[in-house]
Amino acid sequence: MKVSVDRGVCYGSAECAHRAPSVFAFEDGFGVVRPGREESGGDPQVREVAEKCPSQAIALTE
Ligand code: SF4
Repeated sequence: MKVSVDRGVCYGSAECAHRAPSVFAFEDGFGVVRPGREESGGDPQVREVAEKCPSQAIALTE
């Protein structure tokens, strides 16, 4: 399962980068998925981070 961040929705709380730093980083005021970690959407920790994103900017897709 893929994970992505919609920059148009993210408001830069940086919570994703704090909760799962191996998957997310914080760059230029936005949360980003680290290169090579785009297929991490099935990870329970990533799912939790997506649920807790305050702007619901993190998408999990097949
Ligand atoms: S937790 Fe959500 S709002 Fe905060 S930086 Fe990450 S994607 Fe953006």
